[in-house]
Amino acid sequence: MNAPTSSAVLAPTVKLLIGGKFVESKTTQWRDVVNPATQEVLARVPFATPEEIDAAVASAQEAFKTWKKTAIGARARIFLKYQQLIRENMAELAAILTAEQGKTLPDAEGDVFRGLEVVEHAASIGNLQLGELANNVAGGVDTYTLMQPLGVCAGITPFNFPAMIPLWMFPMAIATGNTFVLKPSEQDPMVTMRLVELALEAGIPPGVLNVIHGGEAAVNAICDHKDIKAISFVGSTKVGTHVYNRASLNGKRVQCMMGAKNHAIVMPDANKEQTLNALAGAAFGAAGQRCMALSVVVLVGEAQKWVPELVAKAKTLKVSAGVEKGTDVGPVVSCAAKDRVQSLIERGIADGATLELDGRNPEVAGYEKGNFVGPTVFSGVKPGMSIYDQEIFGPVLCLSAAADIDEAIEFINSNPNGNGTAIFTQSGAAARKFQEEIDVGQVGINVPIPVPVPLFSFSGSRASKLGDLGPYGKQVVLFYTQTKTVTARWFDDSTISHGVNTTISLK
Ligand code: NAD
Repeated sequence: MNAPTSSAVLAPTVKLLIGGKFVESKTTQWRDVVNPATQEVLARVPFATPEEIDAAVASAQEAFKTWKKTAIGARARIFLKYQQLIRENMAELAAILTAEQGKTLPDAEGDVFRGLEVVEHAASIGNLQLGELANNVAGGVDTYTLMQPLGVCAGITPFNFPAMIPLWMFPMAIATGNTFVLKPSEQDPMVTMRLVELALEAGIPPGVLNVIHGGEAAVNAICDHKDIKAISFVGSTKVGTHVYNRASLNGKRVQCMMGAKNHAIVMPDANKEQTLNALAGAAFGAAGQRCMALSVVVLVGEAQKWVPELVAKAKTLKVSAGVEKGTDVGPVVSCAAKDRVQSLIERGIADGATLELDGRNPEVAGYEKGNFVGPTVFSGVKPGMSIYDQEIFGPVLCLSAAADIDEAIEFINSNPNGNGTAIFTQSGAAARKFQEEIDVGQVGINVPIPVPVPLFSFSGSRASKLGDLGPYGKQVVLFYTQTKTVTARWFDDSTISHGVNTTISLK
């Protein structure tokens, strides 16, 4: 990650949102937001001062006093309006996202759309935040639960889904009656800010949603702030583990969705054409910068002979700027990301893997300065090699081999990560065995990127996740609320009891 600069470039500044107003930061530390296909500076993002962070939390704390009492129907209607505004502005949102992040325009629309689905779900909060009631748990006694909001919650988001992941967080937190402080990725905050503008237009009141910008210092301030009750983090394992430990020690509720190494098993009975298309799309789409990208494929038995066809498929993908029609693979997000991916490719060669397709330094006409890496394929990849042990986060696919499904499952279960996995087969028995025995939280059966829709929750596991409850879906309603259990007895003159009860029983 680049260090903040005090660049004198006169690009527009990204604003903070505090108390319902978009304000210019008074900081002296700024960072450029750069188009990864052209290196054009699109904007400058501030690293908010400690006073600005405190002001954002204070505004959320104040707004909570009234927002928590707002009728559930009023909250739901804001999200009904919000989903409509996102739909109406989809093309503009996708264009901003592509310019600052690099992914193709259709994929940028997908990024916004997967977030929009969460907004739609937030609009049904009336059904999601229902308590339970048991009648007559003792004579004349009823017990019921309230799911009450926590207070000020915070979200810290990564660069790779600058629309979807902020939308995983603040809509459900706010719909459940909390107020929110969002810290978007400092690499691509512009589409997030446009979504925030639309959220205010939809009717989110001043102070209910606040935005600060920054990096490590801002994140640490969030972890330490006494008035923040819960933090949802998405990003790398290293930073997520730090956030989890630091914020947990401060008594906060924390959920961290982190790094991955997603494996697919290809059985020899799989439909070859469909499988090769799925593998290429999931490994190289979004330039491999999805937390659910397929980065390792375990070819079982005769499927090991498919390597040349997989390489041929990868070669057909067009590498260019995300705005160009027909582009399959856009640039990676920064020059530093490109250097890191290319140096890992060098390490892969040095470690003895076979480079089947070399995507380093592709020629991209018209975008010579872009951070491009083309599809890259290694075979003979083993644990202990850097390309296997590290999350590459670029368009690099590692191929391994297994004699049978048991060996392939054992191989995947030995990897510490548990974000996503998939099997390609036409055998129901093999698919069911995989579903039962694989120790990974999100499983695809002939589906390469099994990200659940918001009727369910994102359920990465093991080293890819810290905290018990996932973002969005039913689980996040529990994350953003405190269950209060009420046990109540009402008397009238005919039911009044006499005498003192010194036992624990409800008589
Ligand atoms: P990152 O960890 O570098 O940044 C995430 C957030 O943490 C950003 O807001 C950033 O400002 C902040 N941050 C960065 N360095 C920090 C530090 N030293 N201390 C405190 N805060 C810091 O992640 P990224 O590069 O933006 O995103 C890519 C990573 O996110 C990948 O590892 C990917 O797998 C992961 N990811 C996971 C999921 C998931 O659901 N599991 C989803 C998307 C991305």
